[in-house]
Amino acid sequence: MALILKTDLKRHVSHWGAKVLDHLLPPRCLSCGTGAQDAGRVCADCWKKLTFIQAPVCRCCGYPFDFDPLMENSLCGSCCVKIPTFDLARSALRYDDDSRRMILSFKHGDRTEYADFFAQLLIQASHQLDMSNALVIPVPLHKQRLRKRRYNQAALIAKAFAEKKALPYCPDMIIREKHTPPQQGNYTLRKKNLAGAFRIKDKYKNDFQGRKIILIDDVYTTGATAGACARILKRSGSGPVEILTVTRIC
Ligand SMILES: [Zn+2]
Ligand SMILES: [Zn+2]
Repeated sequence: MALILKTDLKRHVSHWGAKVLDHLLPPRCLSCGTGAQDAGRVCADCWKKLTFIQAPVCRCCGYPFDFDPLMENSLCGSCCVKIPTFDLARSALRYDDDSRRMILSFKHGDRTEYADFFAQLLIQASHQLDMSNALVIPVPLHKQRLRKRRYNQAALIAKAFAEKKALPYCPDMIIREKHTPPQQGNYTLRKKNLAGAFRIKDKYKNDFQGRKIILIDDVYTTGATAGACARILKRSGSGPVEILTVTRIC
């Protein structure tokens, strides 16, 4: 009953009104929508269904191997053919029906209270990485899409991640100048669509020379978006660019 009431009410109030309701009414699981014990967490049943990506993975893009390649630091077939422009990518979860439901609720359902939960998943997925002196930035949204969605889901996760790791966070270092269609097609098509899509704000160009950049997004699809951002960052003088995403299509 309370859940129906909450959903109905949220349809009729503003974004901020909806956030107030989230605090007043019982917490719902981001994945299945039933009651969760704690706000900003998935219920125990949904937690059990999540598929965490574990070693062994491609040392570059984080693609999980079905079998142990027996050699440390192995590359997947795709990275062997062409090494990505970013230095490393890691993801917390496989993108499947369960994780997709969570991501979509977070992205389109105003469930922004889950940013902390996703940031915590990224911390677990990246616990072996050296992030000293790194700068955290999100994959940007085009302003047209930002207006429609009202928030950039990647930026919310990146901000929560930076706070938890006590790292500097720069939300608007990269601007998305081209409105590209949502993730569609293979790597080559995505790369073509993304040509000239990103630009670095001039005022930041002196702030990250030689510095490691942690680029955060919700989903790793083909690696084309991460690659396009890494390319312009490195051309402008950044140090290594490492990608962290909550989920990954495998
Ligand atoms: Zn659930
Ligand atoms: Zn790889």
